[in-house]
Amino acid sequence: MFRNLLPAVILVSFSLLLTVTVTAQKVKEPQATNPAWSKPCQPFRIAGNLYYVGTYDLACYLITTPEGHILINTGLAASVSQIKENIKTLGLKYADIRILLTTQAHYDHMGAMAAIKKQTGAQLMVHEKEAEVLKDGGQSDYALGGKGSSFKPVTPDHLLQDGDTIRLGQMQLKLLHHPGHTKGSSSFLFTVNDGQRSYKVLIANMPSIVTEKPFAEVSSYPEIRNDYAYTLKAMKNISFDIWLASHASQFNLHSKHKPGDAYNPSAFADRAGYDAELAGLQQEYDAKLKQ
Ligand SMILES: [Zn+2]
Repeated sequence: MFRNLLPAVILVSFSLLLTVTVTAQKVKEPQATNPAWSKPCQPFRIAGNLYYVGTYDLACYLITTPEGHILINTGLAASVSQIKENIKTLGLKYADIRILLTTQAHYDHMGAMAAIKKQTGAQLMVHEKEAEVLKDGGQSDYALGGKGSSFKPVTPDHLLQDGDTIRLGQMQLKLLHHPGHTKGSSSFLFTVNDGQRSYKVLIANMPSIVTEKPFAEVSSYPEIRNDYAYTLKAMKNISFDIWLASHASQFNLHSKHKPGDAYNPSAFADRAGYDAELAGLQQEYDAKLKQ
């Protein structure tokens, strides 16, 4: 009897070993990252039911509702412990995350996504053009790909399109497709209320240029030139009360808010800062066309 079982046991062990080895080989998060990406950051309430739970520079946003939380972005693979700790510090429950979103499928925002999805059972919703790159952990990314997975592959539960609404209880977020940085880069527009007033919030994925190649040579993304042009134009026309972005440095979070500062949503108004940031990116784009 044992003799008959043995080959099956060996086969099972071998497949398990193979799975573990393949997974381990697959994910290679770039090591020499900006120290500000891993540095801890004290979490705080931004406006109404919107909180900052990210690292010093990798912005992660938590939107709370009576039906659970929405988490936007996850930082690097190792950021999961900081995000968990930040949510706990705010007196909120990590296990209550129901929906996961990302502003862009790069490893500095997707690193902990697979782990958080597994631990919480939350539904991952992304723009449809981000699906492929999520499933292969960034391998198929037009600029950063081709070196294996840079984050753990994860399969989205729902694919979204420009203008789609993401709902959790009474909370509604509008997805704005802002392609260029990645094919499915997305910003989110929604309203929060703190009992005093409501704020229209834009979480913007700023269209910075990743590829070093001239656009005409990016053969796996023939629409890149037009996509950036579309995004730059669309973003200039958005109206909001406060704006935030994928990286804290992009909207000068640390000059607008210091640890321990009192609740002050208007610190994040800064239309001029947003317009100046976009004007800089427009110049970067215009220079790229002459490359
Ligand atoms: Zn990026």
